[in-house]
Amino acid sequence: MLKAGARWLTCGAMTTRPILIHPDPRLRAIAKPLPDISDEIRRLADDMLETMYDAPGIGLAGPQVGQLQRIIVLDCAKDPDAPQPLVMVNPQIVWSSDDRSVYEEGCLSIPDQYAEVERPASVKVRWLDLNGNEQDREMEGLWATCVQHEIDHLDGKLFIDYLGPMKRQLITRKMEKLKRERARGE
Ligand SMILES: [Zn+2]
Repeated sequence: MLKAGARWLTCGAMTTRPILIHPDPRLRAIAKPLPDISDEIRRLADDMLETMYDAPGIGLAGPQVGQLQRIIVLDCAKDPDAPQPLVMVNPQIVWSSDDRSVYEEGCLSIPDQYAEVERPASVKVRWLDLNGNEQDREMEGLWATCVQHEIDHLDGKLFIDYLGPMKRQLITRKMEKLKRERARGE
């Protein structure tokens, strides 16, 4: 989502994957829960982190790289010297605060468009890590906003859905134009 300067340092064979641009039916689909953690899923997670840091962004969800599976990656530390990559499989919000906060959100699938979105200020998230262990954590601030934005992707929901219809249509038309230009190689 938001811009970040972080770089993910690795010696593995990670590759970036193309990021789908809105509008695309795959960004509106409901992603499937993962029954278990396989090597293929670990590779997908590595590639998603690489793709996110390369963009650069602070979060990425499976459907954004065409994988309709419930997996997200995020790193809201925005510190290239101390990356804090987090991979969540089958993430669920199990508690949300009544307190709300507003952040200016963006999305790697909706490049260069930003808008303020109000969401619960803190959430508790439960997920499976890449060892198949259940984890839970209470998150606040930018981390809380980011994890809610990414979990929305797994349910086919985009941050522009929180905006009024006029603003949403305006952004969608800009993205259609961007996709036409990219298809023509401009
Ligand atoms: Zn997004």
